[in-house]
Amino acid sequence: ALPICLFCKIAAGQIPANKLFEDEQILAFYDIDPQAPVHFLVIPKKHIPSAACLTEQEGALLAHIYAVIARLCRELGCENGYRVVTNVGADGGQSVPHLHFHVLAKRSLAWPPG
Ligand code: AMP
Ligand code: ZN
Repeated sequence: ALPICLFCKIAAGQIPANKLFEDEQILAFYDIDPQAPVHFLVIPKKHIPSAACLTEQEGALLAHIYAVIARLCRELGCENGYRVVTNVGADGGQSVPHLHFHVLAKRSLAWPPG
């Protein structure tokens, strides 16, 4: 069956993306509408609608995602720090219903977010 979800299509290579890292489980690619000098997304290849759907089952997957984020940020020279964000649902500002972690860096980020 062909995927209908945008990020499932990117994971399947049916829509191009500017990829930073890929393995069997996950994919990291640059956001098409960057909100910081460094802004990439990390997704599981498996379709998970949002962080609200996570269970203990995804523990190793999440650890892998955060370890890859740390390595990519090191490689990209984000020694001043970075922010990892996952938006959930309408109030969270989620626009693509496939779990993704935004990684933002290379500018000072405001807190609290808008
Ligand atoms: P969210 O609003 O948290 O669901 O984040 C979705 C993100 O996906 C936004 O920052 C979009 O700019 C980004 N986005 C949407 N379509 C694409 C695409 N084809 N390639 C890369 N990033 C995308
Ligand atoms: Zn999906």
